[in-house]
Amino acid sequence: MAHVHQEVVPPPVPKIPIIYPGAKWEPLVNHSAPGDVRQRKIIVLHITEGGSAASAIATFKASVAPHRVSSHFVIDRDGTVYQLVDLNYTAWHASQANSRSVGIEHAATTTGKPATEEQYKASAKLVAWLCDHLGIPMGRQFILTHNEASPKDGHTLCCTGGLDPDRVVAMARELSQTASRPPV
Ligand SMILES: [Zn+2]
Repeated sequence: MAHVHQEVVPPPVPKIPIIYPGAKWEPLVNHSAPGDVRQRKIIVLHITEGGSAASAIATFKASVAPHRVSSHFVIDRDGTVYQLVDLNYTAWHASQANSRSVGIEHAATTTGKPATEEQYKASAKLVAWLCDHLGIPMGRQFILTHNEASPKDGHTLCCTGGLDPDRVVAMARELSQTASRPPV
């Protein structure tokens, strides 16, 4: 009797969405490309050059091919964090670095509206969480501004004057060290 080998093809395993627990989840399903969270090796910091997270989200929603834009996160002036793209997916915020990065926008401008204290705190907390969960080292060579990560885009003022990346990293490090300190 012949042995019939029946190949059993397992169904594809659905990806579990990776959402930051401190974020309001407002998915932008049309504005990301497939990817894998393991690709995310760096964090890219941006300023929106606008006054609010709502206006940035509206811009993302209204963007059309070939200039569709998105970001994983937008941090509002009051420190509210919105997550728009699951970390498994690639957002379109810094052309040379999209596929290997997490994008964080801050509602701030180069002149007149620098990031608020609430935004710095929220950004540092988010950066610390991302580094811990994605295994990204908490150093400036891994946490870059848009212009550092993708100079080709010519956004030389992202984030000049609006957000100090050194301060975000320093605050994130401090938070992470406090969190890992044993309770007394
Ligand atoms: Zn930017």
